[in-house]
Amino acid sequence: MTDAPSYLFYQTRNPRPFLDRAEGIYMFDEDGRRYIDGSSGAMVSNIGHSNPRVLAKMKAQMNRATFGYRLHFRTHPSEDLAAKTVAMTPEGLDRVFFVSGGSEAVESAVKLARQYALTQGQGKRHKVISRFPSYHGCTFGALDLTGYDPLREPFAPMMEGMPKVAAPVTYLDRDDLSEEARGLKYAEALRTRILELGPETVLAFVMEPVGGASTGALVAPDSYYGRVREVCDEFGVILIYDEVMTGAGRTGKFLAAEHWGITPDIVALSKGFGAGYAPLGAIVARHELVEPVLDAGGFAHGFTYAGNPLACAAGLAVLEEIEEQDLIGNAARMGEVLMSELRQLMAEYDFIGHVRGKGLLTAFELVSDRATMTPLDPGLNAYDRLVNLAYERGLILYSRRTRGGTAGDHFLLAPPLIITEAQIAEMMAILRDGLDAFAG
Ligand code: PMP
Repeated sequence: MTDAPSYLFYQTRNPRPFLDRAEGIYMFDEDGRRYIDGSSGAMVSNIGHSNPRVLAKMKAQMNRATFGYRLHFRTHPSEDLAAKTVAMTPEGLDRVFFVSGGSEAVESAVKLARQYALTQGQGKRHKVISRFPSYHGCTFGALDLTGYDPLREPFAPMMEGMPKVAAPVTYLDRDDLSEEARGLKYAEALRTRILELGPETVLAFVMEPVGGASTGALVAPDSYYGRVREVCDEFGVILIYDEVMTGAGRTGKFLAAEHWGITPDIVALSKGFGAGYAPLGAIVARHELVEPVLDAGGFAHGFTYAGNPLACAAGLAVLEEIEEQDLIGNAARMGEVLMSELRQLMAEYDFIGHVRGKGLLTAFELVSDRATMTPLDPGLNAYDRLVNLAYERGLILYSRRTRGGTAGDHFLLAPPLIITEAQIAEMMAILRDGLDAFAG
């Protein structure tokens, strides 16, 4: 059936088999072949597929009402999900606005920041700094924040006032600095950028606490996070954490920000928040930002499907499942297991140059020379080959052809948070088999 004609166009013409069904960490195609969902789709299916609680709650909601426009009715699922989200996020983040995806969440965060600045008589603040490399989404505004050339260049030039911090947070630095000093150096690059741009013109700084699509599970040195918060406070810059990929327990805390005790001003959530049961995202913000906007007439923003009761019923059941099954704790524990497996792989295969991650957001990267970290295959064939070899053996991997905007291949291993140690062993056995075929 793979070669059946298709009217769809996505990124490539490379057809995959038809999906038949999915359960837990496994997916099955129409020919009955089984795959481990090694990257939870695109870091989405955090609680696994076909979760009975979520399906039951969705069915119950479907039988009552599938849609109610948010300006016409309040709904219990949206109110309850908002309350649960506030309860699960760090103190201080206590207002919620629902959207249907990650790009929408990022743009909503920026627009809330902008409207707040206007209420404060700070209309000059309009520049939103992000990092290079980074990934924040594919709508025009979110793409312009994204520091990832292959996705940006086809559409350049885009919007104005979206400057980047050009000094990347990277593991490729070859200097004699300690980890701590390096983290402070990266934060200092933000401070310098704010000063260059004129602090009175800078609205917000947007960052992924752990890099996702652009850098592959890249964690900054610990010292970076606190210093960035200080720099933002120094200049009245709103700190937005894009936790679309890292949120909802993926890294072993509900928000990755909690690893460093940071409370951002606004957090963007999606992916694991709806966990694949519904297109769902949210921004969670401090009431100090939201209340002045409401007092001034309201947040001039909103998507038709925002907060629809079916998506919110799914999201609520997802959060209940995360809590009751202690999936955040499992992500932390299984993340340790997976990371030690990855270190073991690095010992076995000399073309694996780097392994990294936090909780169950992990990655490995292929190089031709560990000393120089030269990418294995600038022609980028390695990417396709390994993805396909794993796929043929029943393991689905998410990978990117670029490393921080330059050539390089990284592969994200980020299975559903329900994964067990035995299932990790099963996944690694398939990966080893794929790597052996790749090496041979
Ligand atoms: N931010 C981050 C950190 C992401 O990883 C993504 C998706 N990869 C997005 C935003 C955009 O999310 P969506 O594709 O749902 O619009």
